[in-house]
Amino acid sequence: MAAPKVAVVGAGLIGLSTALCIVETCPSCSVAVLSDQFSPNTTSDVAAGILIPHTYPGTAIHVQKQWFKETFTYLFAISNSAEASESGIHLVSGWQIFKNTPKEESPFWSDVVLGFRPMSKAELQKFPQHQFGQAFTTLKCDCPPYLLWLEKRLKAAGVQMYTRKVSDLWELHSEYNVVVNCAGIGAHHLVGDEKLFPIRGQVVEVHAPWVKNFIRDADGSTYIYPGIHRVTLGGTREKENWSLSPDPDTTKDIFDRCCSLEPSLQGAQDVKVKVGLRPSRQSVRLNREVLSQGGVKLLVVHNYGHGAGGFSVHRGTAKEAARLVGECIAALRGSSSRAKL
Ligand code: FAD
Repeated sequence: MAAPKVAVVGAGLIGLSTALCIVETCPSCSVAVLSDQFSPNTTSDVAAGILIPHTYPGTAIHVQKQWFKETFTYLFAISNSAEASESGIHLVSGWQIFKNTPKEESPFWSDVVLGFRPMSKAELQKFPQHQFGQAFTTLKCDCPPYLLWLEKRLKAAGVQMYTRKVSDLWELHSEYNVVVNCAGIGAHHLVGDEKLFPIRGQVVEVHAPWVKNFIRDADGSTYIYPGIHRVTLGGTREKENWSLSPDPDTTKDIFDRCCSLEPSLQGAQDVKVKVGLRPSRQSVRLNREVLSQGGVKLLVVHNYGHGAGGFSVHRGTAKEAARLVGECIAALRGSSSRAKL
């Protein structure tokens, strides 16, 4: 069999990281990324990019922990290399704060992040509305630089990038042996997934270089995440809202909520507003599928539906998707050698 041809549909975080894992695990594959949008016009460009896992109710916790651990380990190594500034990956310390003490004082990921511990009474004095808190150090991706860094690595490995909207995965059948679906919320139309829905998120980016620690209200409603150059303030979670237009009232509300946690943000400047649609499901869709039409087969690997936590688990799910692509290729090689006999 000639070099297997793999098409990855989608150039957000999930498509690019999956393409990179395929190149790393299958150097003989010819990989192309096909997408109607590239950075800076994807949902992934809007994300705050902090590594604090969101929980997927339909996925076993040990699997989610494995995905998070693989992602943390991968990005920690980048943050500790000469590539750190170009890739936008950096360590950030701060606090997750609770209005009421939670039942479980340590989440499943507490031994993956660095230095996890309950906040001291003295630290909690900073947040008089909150009773309990967790202090830790995690990683943050400044999203557009990280996506560009991934694109650069893919191009260096010979991966072709095509601007193309795919209306039906069967369009790719004559050109590619395996198709990998990383279309994010686009999978709702592309493969008619009714279990996939948008959770709209609006964030505000500001210049406030004195803010060095992250602050996250544990219900996820309000957060302050300092990046290398800008601070991301959030947020909103609006289920089934497909609107990508920023809402000025929401911007003011986010800003007011963040100022109540970090009053110095009153002096922030250069405000920019971003909106994205989190591709949400009960669980990430990460599986192989053999589509069949009139006796013809198309091998597909799905990797989408990362909702509010794509950055936190992307490397783990990309590695698993690449493993599934490897299984497809092994099956193709098996059937082509049987055909020769
Ligand atoms: P996308 O980035 O949307 O990429 C999908 C790609 O597929 C795009 O390139 C699109 O053009 C392409 N595509 C779609 N349909 C087609 C088609 N038919 N043909 C061709 N191409 C197609 N996660 C965290 O872990 N930490 C955070 O702090 C965080 N903050 C967030 C804040 C906000 C406001 C939002 C909205 C999200 C946040 N997330 C966060 C979640 C994270 O952004 C997502 O989980 C992640 O970006 C999903 O990546 P993706 O590649 O699946 O989707």
